[in-house]
Amino acid sequence: MIYLTLCLTHDCNLRCGYCYAGRKRAVSMSRKTAFRSIDFGLQQACREGKALGKMPEIQIGFFGGEPLLEWTLLQECREYAEAESSRAGINLKWTLTTNMTLLTEERVVWLMEKGFHLGLSMDGNAAMHGVWRNYPDGRSSHAECVAALEWFKGREHRAELICVVNPANVKHLEESVRWMGGACGLDIMLNPDFGAKWTPEALAALSAAYEKVGEEVVRRYRAGNPLTLNVIQSKIGAYVKGGYQTCDMCSLGEREIAVAVSGNIYPCARLVGNDDLENLCMGNVLTGVDREKKLKLAAARGNRNPKCLDCSLRARCLQWCGCVNYVTSGRTDWVGEFTCFHEKLSIRVADRVAETLWEERNPWFIREFYSGVSSGDGNTAAECED
Ligand code: SF4
Ligand code: SF4
Repeated sequence: MIYLTLCLTHDCNLRCGYCYAGRKRAVSMSRKTAFRSIDFGLQQACREGKALGKMPEIQIGFFGGEPLLEWTLLQECREYAEAESSRAGINLKWTLTTNMTLLTEERVVWLMEKGFHLGLSMDGNAAMHGVWRNYPDGRSSHAECVAALEWFKGREHRAELICVVNPANVKHLEESVRWMGGACGLDIMLNPDFGAKWTPEALAALSAAYEKVGEEVVRRYRAGNPLTLNVIQSKIGAYVKGGYQTCDMCSLGEREIAVAVSGNIYPCARLVGNDDLENLCMGNVLTGVDREKKLKLAAARGNRNPKCLDCSLRARCLQWCGCVNYVTSGRTDWVGEFTCFHEKLSIRVADRVAETLWEERNPWFIREFYSGVSSGDGNTAAECED
């Protein structure tokens, strides 16, 4: 599968303090560049399908700035890619990451009908969200996000919340997770702000908050109403399957491609920023791929930090993530200190959650992770529930 992300605009109607999407300016992708980007992605998908001897697949995502500022262009891209991919026999998937403020019920219905999966950026309750996710005049965007959540009722499997945790808002995390879990049934992706300055005090606050979040996850399983938080369930899942598999890992610049407004090609959407990182730019969709740069980036995948070689957590750690490595260490192939701290913390909390629920033979937990496995008293998970 090829993962193509189009950054439709450098502009945004918000000014989140931790934004890594670069300086905001009213510059958007031209239709020509957008269509050429799609052609480029489809070619890569065909090449991959041929090499693997299977049907080509591509996931096309829209990102920004705020991509909904370019609603018409987004719809045109959807139409163009649909026509081109059906001609070429390519399987298509769609994603959109949005700050939610420009969603309307009509737009949500259209996006659902067109098969999109949405990443909804919302940091948590009013206190947490209001720390960073504000309009240029300082007003919080929380009310608009809360209003938009209504349109996802009954469509929970088609969207997830993306919640950025930062030293300045971490004190609200525990309360926010409880609030989000009550306000909607969407999965929650906790995204630590890898680029932030995490002082020892901030790291201690993060640890305390994750421990509390773990307790909330246990409480929800006990109540028969599980809450999905990536930092916990993904670590349990990685344990159950013996570590992250190749298909879980991104492949910087190979299967993962991001195109900036200018048409410049980057190995990941997170690295587009101001579109000025020459060392990471692999060419342009209008003028062609810079093969030498692409090879250089491919050679700099993985993690060469020797401290990880004999780490027992290595298989369940995101040490392979090139963009996070770049943000934390300045190198795509060198895991940073904060990542190490965060991964150890997530795994510790996840393991405590899993041990507690396994001991209790919680049927929801067993069904989710050990479907078909005996719960220890001779019953399967489904039987336990009865
Ligand atoms: S909504 Fe997204 S792109 Fe806009 S300022 Fe916030 S983080 Fe940046
Ligand atoms: S937990 Fe730390 S030492 Fe272990 S693999 Fe991850 S980054 Fe490396």
